Amino acid sequence: MSSAASSVSAAYDTVLRRNPGELEFHQAAKEVLDSLMPVVERHPEYLDAGILERICEPERQIIFRVTWMDDAGRVQLNRGFRVQYNSVLGPYKGGLRFHPSVRLGTIKFLGFEQIFKNALTGLPIGGGKGGSDFDPKGKSDAEVMRFCQSFMTELHRHIGAETDVPAGDIGVGGREIGYLFGQYKRLHNRYESGVLTGKSPAWGGSLARTEATGYGTVIFAQQMLKTKNRSLDGARVIVSGSGNVAIYATEKAQQLGATVVGLSDSSGYVYDPDGIDLELIKQIKEIERGRISDYVARRGGRAELRTSGKVWDIAREEGGADVALPCATQNELDENDVRSLLDGGCAAVAEGANMPCTPEAVELLHQNGVLFAPGKAANAGGVATSALEMQQNASRDTWTFDYTADRLEQIMVNVHEQCAQTAEEYGKPGDYVLGANIAGFTKVADAMLALGVI
Ligand code: GLU
Repeated sequence: MSSAASSVSAAYDTVLRRNPGELEFHQAAKEVLDSLMPVVERHPEYLDAGILERICEPERQIIFRVTWMDDAGRVQLNRGFRVQYNSVLGPYKGGLRFHPSVRLGTIKFLGFEQIFKNALTGLPIGGGKGGSDFDPKGKSDAEVMRFCQSFMTELHRHIGAETDVPAGDIGVGGREIGYLFGQYKRLHNRYESGVLTGKSPAWGGSLARTEATGYGTVIFAQQMLKTKNRSLDGARVIVSGSGNVAIYATEKAQQLGATVVGLSDSSGYVYDPDGIDLELIKQIKEIERGRISDYVARRGGRAELRTSGKVWDIAREEGGADVALPCATQNELDENDVRSLLDGGCAAVAEGANMPCTPEAVELLHQNGVLFAPGKAANAGGVATSALEMQQNASRDTWTFDYTADRLEQIMVNVHEQCAQTAEEYGKPGDYVLGANIAGFTKVADAMLALGVI
């Protein structure tokens, strides 16, 4: 084995030994490390400085108890996390996920991905992630508020505009950010707008932040399609999920002339051959916090609810799909789903969620020449717009929707360009996984070298 190969495999062995049982984190680390062999061959200085092992080890990991009282007066208990992964490019930055499946390994995988994603944006933000196994689903507003207040009562001592700036992720949207910010403000007696992003534009948030992740994913997909002289205009698109990312990916895709024929949630999926009715899905998901079945019941027409199978089956069973945008959660699209997409003539897959495609799915997409954008590149628009929110907060300014959305577009075009160029430079044109991993890693690794052994 070459010394580069043995260093990469030693770094991965260390990840396995230090983080037993954290399968999603192992998966994310392996994917990045596997891309780095040619980089460390060219740059032995990274190995001399122990960069591979250092970059896999979070700078700080915080785990805490969150106790709160439900509406019936019973005491409830959850676990809170914040993994402050890497801060060489800026304050730790990344969302909070509230979902019953959240464990330390989940947050570590997300935090690790965030380092490279944030570096790709070109903005001065480090990587971090947090969350809890709290499930906001089915809770009253008052319960969510009490949970958020208790969560922030511990988290507040670890964050700050120059230290660590959390935002939303699955289960954390405008309502939760409001309660978290309120408690932070109360504890500090200071209006520190820049301590959280994803705030409402009514009190310190940025216009276009809500739309940013979904819009950015579609802009990335459009850039990829352009390299093959194709476009979203007239395309049939399947989107998974029906949260913030999925809704705004649908909106942008339809603005660009596509028809989005599928969306899903944990209760099933909808096939809507006439294209998703955006106002209706927004009303149900953003306002009523309802289910995809409510959408089908009220949409009428040709929309159908399916409670078995997966949204990707539409490609095989309903006359094809040109583009797939997995916007739900990790490992939701596997090899079988890729086979459906291939049968349906799919030309591009862009990850709106974090790591929604399994490694086997990615491999199969690559083997079949399907354009594939990994989440750390394709969904970077969310965190990039969070960084724009931080800029507005720091300068006590507010920008217009169009100005902010234009900056988002430029950033996504740039992220695409960097990934494409880096893949080309390393002899793998069109391999956006390799391009994203190497371009993101190199920025962080160079800053780590410059900042010395810390
Ligand atoms: N949770 C989002 C992500 O996965 C956004 C993070 C942020 O805005 O800080 O990138």
